[in-house]
Amino acid sequence: MSNSKNFIEQIIDEDLNNGFSSSKLKFRFPPEPNGFLHIGHVKAICINFSLAKRHDAPIVLRFDDTNPEKEEKKYIDAIKQDISWLGFEWDEERYASDYFGKLFNWALELIKDGKAYIDSQSSEKIAEQKGTPTSPGSNSPNRNRSVEENLDLFGKMKEGVFDEGTHVLRAKIDMNSPNMLMRDPVIYRVLKKSHPRTNNDWVIYPMYDWAHGESDYIEQISHSLCTLEFEPHRELYNWFLDQVVEANKIRPKQREFARLNLSHTITSKRKLMFLVEQGHVMGWDDPRMPTVSGLQRRGYPPSALVSFVKTAGVAKRENVIEASLLEFCAREELNKSSKRAMVVLDPLKITITNYPEDQIELISSENNPEDPETDFREIPFSREILIEREDFKPEANRKFFRLKLGKEVRLKSAYIICANEVVYGDNEEIIEVKCSYDPLSKSGSGTEESQRKVKGTLHWVSKNQAIPVEVREYDRLFLHPSPSAAKTDEELAQMLNPNSKKITKAFAEPSLKSSKSGDRFQFQRKGYFVVDKDTSHNKIVFNKTVGLRDNWKSLN
Ligand code: ATP
Ligand code: MG
Repeated sequence: MSNSKNFIEQIIDEDLNNGFSSSKLKFRFPPEPNGFLHIGHVKAICINFSLAKRHDAPIVLRFDDTNPEKEEKKYIDAIKQDISWLGFEWDEERYASDYFGKLFNWALELIKDGKAYIDSQSSEKIAEQKGTPTSPGSNSPNRNRSVEENLDLFGKMKEGVFDEGTHVLRAKIDMNSPNMLMRDPVIYRVLKKSHPRTNNDWVIYPMYDWAHGESDYIEQISHSLCTLEFEPHRELYNWFLDQVVEANKIRPKQREFARLNLSHTITSKRKLMFLVEQGHVMGWDDPRMPTVSGLQRRGYPPSALVSFVKTAGVAKRENVIEASLLEFCAREELNKSSKRAMVVLDPLKITITNYPEDQIELISSENNPEDPETDFREIPFSREILIEREDFKPEANRKFFRLKLGKEVRLKSAYIICANEVVYGDNEEIIEVKCSYDPLSKSGSGTEESQRKVKGTLHWVSKNQAIPVEVREYDRLFLHPSPSAAKTDEELAQMLNPNSKKITKAFAEPSLKSSKSGDRFQFQRKGYFVVDKDTSHNKIVFNKTVGLRDNWKSLN
């Protein structure tokens, strides 16, 4: 990652060099509360909150809550929780709905100035008259209604006299503009829906474009940063500002940056909502979801998400970032911070025939070799041990650095064992391996034998002391590298990976008994895992965050 400034930072520096006072800088993050935040939003959050921090400027968390059909209080709460979890603090919490009165009064001014009119045509008719990008639109027959008639009708719209879809207020701009958005955009519509904050106070609601820019202005936001799809809206944003701006006030400046697109992932609230509503996932916070709450539940530390969007960078053009970069950032962070533990996912019994039958010995193992001040924990060792089934083969070539007949391996933090005999079950499956151990080889005991090098170290648990746990391993939710290309919901559903979740009954060292939801571990040789947030199970459930290395390169 380079330390040079991105183009948004450069724009602000330029404004400051041209005399804009840094004390007037102010930023906002403006989510619409119609779904949960996803990894794309983390980029917008980082851009805005980092700028505020860098310039010691205030930042507003503003909910653009202009559409009560889709917005809910639960989304407002989830968004606030997610931003806090990411480690960001806002200075003001605002809502576009706080300004409904002001926006209404400004709309009255527009009408009085002859810059807005009531159209009483159907939405189909209005769309038809919009024209196309290459042909001009045509004027509505209502375009020249008198100011008095418009005021009267607008008043009645507000009073609830009219049904939904019968009347709208439109800005009177230019039906011939090359920019379709300037062709007399609708700024108010009748919606007889209760709003999460204003309840039933209003039956008309401002359109997003009208509310958004004017809210920026009311809050005196200096730089209104948004994603590229809003670039064509900039002309309208400026037109709306022109109608209200006062000379001594800050005029917000809209600038656009590229959305964050991630391979194998969708970052569209509508499509994520589809997955939730159709039951393709357990909810918005399903560990396979690219939502902030899903990534949290999956075990991603907030710092990994922030470092990911910083590494991906701020660009002017759309691009697609590989999902493996996100996993890389998680590993970097988790390797430093997570405690080590031993958990066997697919057990094979080992009996150490020369180990005393009733003896239980406590082995000491470091919690984090990456931490110079690591503490240690104790793990019971005994005659019966479990190792991973895949770590034993009766015979194997020289490259198999695990256990095979007649060869030695070290049990992590414990002894060197040698495999002597395989016990087969009725169906010729291996049910047990009889081994012997070298009593002088105990790790850290200081003997010459303890230093003895053998190829291969295995993780293990003591059979009778291990605790049963549930391990949930995840694969990508989509097998297709670009599910965002799906044209329909059905197509999107077909791109889903049918095997994205695997549940295993595993055996963990007993120290994990005291782990709490959200605790993260490296299961040695297996990957990074987190204790699930749902504690209503009668056992400990671990979600796998990522493996120890990138397995996708070879699979793709
Ligand atoms: P979606 O398309 O998922 O519904 P949205 O743009 O409608 O997203 P908003 O709640 O309006 O969602 O977004 C809040 C802010 O986050 C906006 O400034 C928007 O530009 C930004 N944003 C949304 N998606 C991304 C993304 N993928 N990458 C970067 N910024 C994003
Ligand atoms: Mg949006």
